Amino acid sequence: MLVDKLLVNIFLVFVPLLVYSALSDHRYMKHTQLLMGGVLGVSSVLCIAFSYIWYGLYWDLRYVPLILSVLYFGPKAGLLNITVMVLARMYIGPDSIDVGLLSMILCYLGPFLVRRTFMQLKGMFFRAGINMLMSIWASLVMLSMLLIHSWANANGRLDKEEIELIKIIIGFGMIQFLSVGASSFWMEFSLEREEMRNKIRQAERINTLGELAASMAHEVRNPLTVVKGFLQMVQSELEGKNHRYIALALAETDRAERIISDYLSLSRPQIGKTELMDLSGMVEQIVLLLNPMATKQGVRLYTELKNEIYVYTDRNQLLQALVHVTKNAIEAAEDGGRVYITLIIHEQKACLSIRDNGKGMSREHLDRVGTLFFSTKEVGTGLGTAVSFRIIEAMNGSIRYESEPGVGTVVIILLPLAQESLLTAEG
Ligand code: ADP
Ligand code: MG
Repeated sequence: MLVDKLLVNIFLVFVPLLVYSALSDHRYMKHTQLLMGGVLGVSSVLCIAFSYIWYGLYWDLRYVPLILSVLYFGPKAGLLNITVMVLARMYIGPDSIDVGLLSMILCYLGPFLVRRTFMQLKGMFFRAGINMLMSIWASLVMLSMLLIHSWANANGRLDKEEIELIKIIIGFGMIQFLSVGASSFWMEFSLEREEMRNKIRQAERINTLGELAASMAHEVRNPLTVVKGFLQMVQSELEGKNHRYIALALAETDRAERIISDYLSLSRPQIGKTELMDLSGMVEQIVLLLNPMATKQGVRLYTELKNEIYVYTDRNQLLQALVHVTKNAIEAAEDGGRVYITLIIHEQKACLSIRDNGKGMSREHLDRVGTLFFSTKEVGTGLGTAVSFRIIEAMNGSIRYESEPGVGTVVIILLPLAQESLLTAEG
């Protein structure tokens, strides 16, 4: 009988999770908080209905859905879960509802208090670990209730039966622990799949957008070149204020050209003409290029470059990516800030790190960096990092951001080294 009821309980705990993974794509599931709170509440109630009654107590997995609802779907979902449970218990039988209610509230409070930490955790194992800790908390609550009860009844002495009960609670706690573990891994896998689906959808959107942008950028580029040519011609004949106006107009056409070329490389970040090149030379070129901008902002650039690190790739594309990343670092560093660029070999790869002591990024921003149109700047386009990510990835490299608000950011770019054979071939 015990095994039967246990299996039914485990089944009841998993049904809402199956429902969630099957429907998480549906648009109604956008309001999952309350919906899942209700569904998990019903699951808790059914667990109570299929309790195993032993030593006059109800043994079931009702707290598993409660823990999951608070941690995965929020405090409101948890409250709804409790409400459904209380209503059902009042209907089933009002005996010792006060003790039941107190345990429910305590089992709600545990996950409620750790939810913030839970939301910030990234790894699946850590998150499942928190869930499992909460099941231990639920068992502790049960144990305390029992001890308080016996203390009130028998002046603090435990009789044989109560010692037996403590053992059962510990055994039952383990079952609860394993159920919570299994169901939270299930949830984690569902969430991971959902995230993957979202990413695919976003990539499709970017592709369509990229094609559209590419054709537009292509069309706009030619008239822009003509305008630029005429402006340059006129500029040489003008003096004073008008000369300055034309200089401004030229700077703006340059900016427009840069944005267009970003859109173009976003839509087709294929690597063009590849060549063997010394990375430290390229970094020096970037420093030369961006030093005027840095000086204007009161930022100093420092380099520490190991020579003779060769890569075999598209020079222009790489230059574009590195300029974007370095520019962002300069823009993030405030007046008096510093940007360090270091180049070393790490695990058979060229490792370039661009570190600034600027304003840094919050966790949320860090997650979004590299996605299209994400910008926190007033005149930002949100193209730079997206373009850099795509270029570096097309080069079989990797790019990673680490950041702390108020401390600074470091961007680590790894690129495959040019092979020995290529080196000798090129002489
Ligand atoms: P834009 O520079 O036009 O805003 P980017 O794609 O280059 O677009 O950068 C996107 C956003 O990423 C920036 O607006 C900024 O918030 C953030 N970011 C990128 N690099 C850094 C950095 N080194 N320090 C702080 N924030 C950064
Ligand atoms: Mg930028």
